[in-house]
Amino acid sequence: MTESQPFDFRAFHTAHQIAMIVACTENGVIGADGDMPWHLPMDLRHFMRSTKGCSVIMGRKTFDSLNEPLPNRLNIVLSRSLGSDWAARQGPGVRVASSIEEGIKVARASDMAMPIWIAGGGDIYRQAMDTPGLVDLIVRTRVHTQIEGDTVFPDIDLDCWGRHHFEVFDGDDRHKFGLTFEWWTRKSAGLGQ
Ligand code: NDP
Repeated sequence: MTESQPFDFRAFHTAHQIAMIVACTENGVIGADGDMPWHLPMDLRHFMRSTKGCSVIMGRKTFDSLNEPLPNRLNIVLSRSLGSDWAARQGPGVRVASSIEEGIKVARASDMAMPIWIAGGGDIYRQAMDTPGLVDLIVRTRVHTQIEGDTVFPDIDLDCWGRHHFEVFDGDDRHKFGLTFEWWTRKSAGLGQ
């Protein structure tokens, strides 16, 4: 598929089970000092449109960086220390799980739409990437810059993953940096290019 063909990303997402969604710079940075080191409304909209109505699994530190739980989603917070009583205090849209596997079970037992999204941060992305066969889709926003940070997204192994589709946007007065939205699938699934 090329850049110019129409791409129904919602339908494409639904055909997958467990997906990672991330925004990273050309040098792999995703975070600095507990937050994202950019403000890119187009990427935020892309994240919100992609994950709406789905389960979103995230590390406890990423959850802490949000002002409030993500609305219209099941927020599944991974923590080895927080318990279900903590989750109950956050409201009905928040659950806690003590491992990625348990988080996926919670998501599967819910009535949320597919796929199940793994939404960071660096610790969770790395563990998910290191678990063979766990993730079947990576939706990566490449931010067209190289900056300093303390948290990174792992390199995508080009032996295992192929870039199925991408869309490029230049920076403008609301976006300091240009962006490329990318969709990566496992080569074994026969969808990569
Ligand atoms: P994480 O958000 O990955 O959270 C780490 C915490 O998750 C741990 O301290 C632990 O919580 C819990 N945890 C980790 N592994 C497991 C496991 N296997 N089972 C259960 N709980 C687990 O932290 P990072 O610091 O790596 O990432 C945060 C950074 O990433 C921030 O800067 C944030 O802004 C950025 N980010 C960027 C994104 C992007 O797309 N650019 C997306 C998401 C985050 P506990 O200590 O409670 O046990």
